[in-house]
Amino acid sequence: MTRHISILGSTGSIGRQTLEVAESCGHRVAALTVNRSVELAEAQARKFRPELVAAADESAAADLRLRLADTPIRVAGGEGGLLEAASLASADTVVTAVVGIAGLKPTLAAIDAGKRIALANKETLVCAGELVMARAKERGADIVPVDSEHSAIFQCLQGCRDKGEVRRLILTASGGPFFGKTRKELSQVTLEQALRHPNWSMGAKITIDSATLMNKGLEVIEAMRLYAMPPEKIHVVVHRESILHSLVEFVDGAILAQLGTADMHLPIQYALTWPERTAGPAVPLDLLRCPPLTFHQPDLEVFPCLALALDCARRGGTSTAILNGANEAAVGLFLDDKVKFLDIPRLVAGALDRVEAKPGGYDLDDIFEADWAARAAVHEMMR
Ligand code: NDP
Ligand code: MG
Repeated sequence: MTRHISILGSTGSIGRQTLEVAESCGHRVAALTVNRSVELAEAQARKFRPELVAAADESAAADLRLRLADTPIRVAGGEGGLLEAASLASADTVVTAVVGIAGLKPTLAAIDAGKRIALANKETLVCAGELVMARAKERGADIVPVDSEHSAIFQCLQGCRDKGEVRRLILTASGGPFFGKTRKELSQVTLEQALRHPNWSMGAKITIDSATLMNKGLEVIEAMRLYAMPPEKIHVVVHRESILHSLVEFVDGAILAQLGTADMHLPIQYALTWPERTAGPAVPLDLLRCPPLTFHQPDLEVFPCLALALDCARRGGTSTAILNGANEAAVGLFLDDKVKFLDIPRLVAGALDRVEAKPGGYDLDDIFEADWAARAAVHEMMR
């Protein structure tokens, strides 16, 4: 099976691994998008020969246009360029691997164009999951998760004909680099330590989200939206070894899990080939070399970001967009070395207190307004 894919965020961690899967499995690349990484974008474009390359940053697009002037590859810029890549006629599948709410509009454009969505950009579902899922249903667009936990659940649910048979979803969390630490110890941790994830190599923002456990909170909300499950049916368990990627417990007590090495090639590939499976670059798990599997309760006091996210999951409405916007802003400040690690939950909690959330019945404008207000509240607290 050959897919024609547009990769939104091709220069990132998921984007680069998607290109490895495409090369290994023979999928064709229709479009690539980046923000500013022109050098890598040029190299990718020369190798994979897409029809279109788009750069969100206009000056990067101008640079790329010069770099690719000797090729027939079209270069587009700005938000319009991303939307064009997301809805390109020659693509059947769009891999959403942009980071943050910047992925929301292009994902909607891909849904409107009837593409399969291989969804890595979880912030889209956290901010506007109900709108996105409703739009996908209306347009008949499949959304197949790339996030490893959600892919595991998706795989476990393949034989399930009636959602009423599911008792709960169990998301596994690695616990990040600071598992077992006290709050006092966390007050001293550095950016460099936070960027050192024990099991996964990922982009900077999600690596920090994994260290605060916000990532798991975002994933609970992502799972709620993808599987139309109430938050009380979604549980989080810390599993340090990252071998069980997540589990589904059924009403008869059976628990199904998907196991594997910590390798994103497999969930990326499955999102492209589902419902089929093909050989690919993922390294299979060697059971005889596995460490013992351990499970722990997450510590919501030491990692308040998870508690904040679970609370927003219960509240619904635009609260999840406020949570996400504040977190993107706070993590951005931490990555710029402007705040300390424990300021991230403090700033997110402060934004949730300051910005009023709209309950259900919101539209896309409400989401962007909530996102903007949350970022403004974070910057206000920094004055
Ligand atoms: P990276 O930071 O590695 O890559 C992000 C990509 O998006 C880059 O191509 C970047 O371009 C582009 N980009 C960044 N900002 C913008 C913007 N404002 N507009 C347009 N494009 C932009 O992120 P990851 O690959 O780690 O993560 C991507 C998404 O996948 C996230 O939502 C993350 O939560 C999710 N995810 C990632 C996993 C992983 O293993 N990495 C696992 C599960 C989910 P440029 O290079 O030019 O900056
Ligand atoms: Mg994940």
